[in-house]
Amino acid sequence: MNDGKKSHGGAKRGPSSKKSPRVTLIEGDGVGPEVIGAAISVIAATGVSIDWDRRSAGAAAMRQYGTPVPDALMESLARTRVALKGPLETQVGVGYRSINVHLRKAFDLYANLRPTVSFAGVHTPFRDVNLTVVRENTEDLYSGIEHEVAPGVVESVKVITARASTRIAKFAFDYARRMKRKSLTAIHKANIMKLSDGLFLKCARGVAKRYPDIKYSEQIVDAACMRLVTNPQSFDVLLLENLYGDIVSDLCAGLVGGLGLVPGANYGDKGAIFEAVHGTAPDIAKKNLANPIAAILSGAMLLDYLEHQREGDRIRASVGAVLRSGKTLTRDLGGKASTTAMTESIICAFART
Ligand code: ATP
Repeated sequence: MNDGKKSHGGAKRGPSSKKSPRVTLIEGDGVGPEVIGAAISVIAATGVSIDWDRRSAGAAAMRQYGTPVPDALMESLARTRVALKGPLETQVGVGYRSINVHLRKAFDLYANLRPTVSFAGVHTPFRDVNLTVVRENTEDLYSGIEHEVAPGVVESVKVITARASTRIAKFAFDYARRMKRKSLTAIHKANIMKLSDGLFLKCARGVAKRYPDIKYSEQIVDAACMRLVTNPQSFDVLLLENLYGDIVSDLCAGLVGGLGLVPGANYGDKGAIFEAVHGTAPDIAKKNLANPIAAILSGAMLLDYLEHQREGDRIRASVGAVLRSGKTLTRDLGGKASTTAMTESIICAFART
């Protein structure tokens, strides 16, 4: 069970200067402004000063600038190389398959990290889950190569390269070693996709040899899903290609209480974007009902990255304390608290961390 104190950190940005770091802020669509507003308040309460460079994207930018990805946003990201981002709505027919995929590709944010831990006080059938999903972010069936071969016959191309597979495996093993995790499981379907998933596994095995301190294993994705819902405690770090990672990481969020609780980050060699796992949740947008914890914990991962890990740990401890007490829970967790009430409780809990 999460004691609320363990760092969720991925890579770090490197030595921080004394100045307030400049970070691009994208509030996003739907529940985005509410949950990102909560994350900003909690970060401010830690005392870390951040120079936020606010930029719009998605549907909000479409309304304002006529494009979901304005140049000003891309220029800001190119300058700051780090962002906190709310969920974005990708509108049909405006030239982007997915804005998130576009941003990840543009800045080569090849590693998606989702630390998924059980919290005391959150009722689910599963206890003591503590696993991290590491998902390759740039290729696989997300390459966007699709064509109609003949009427009624389409092909969607799955691209797997040795370069991308080796670098994501290295990222996952480095993460496992840094976070003192014990084992790593590569998840695949190489029994069917012998060449593509076979290459992914070959690269993972090659990297695994350099990390004898981390126990390496492999599992076929369907069997892994079964094991995740029967014995999730047996997993530690999971390494997956893009599509399996997308699906399995939402499954993992379900194990610990849902999308409102799981943070996420996308790392490249030169930058990172921190974002909650959930989408825009239009059904509860602008109602002060959204659970802000996923965004707040993504903010804690941002602080780790900016080398303010102590403050990141304090946020995690406060979130853990609020959930444990069970007094202030949003609707998705079976309570009646609003987004703002939960945010205030987390800030109040700082006094006890
Ligand atoms: P999108 O199209 O942007 O992915 P969506 O509604 O299809 O939006 P999610 O936003 O991931 O997908 O939401 C799925 C469900 O989970 C919705 O019913 C939503 O209300 C709920 N949900 C998502 N995020 C939260 C949150 N932060 N707090 C509470 N409920 C949430």
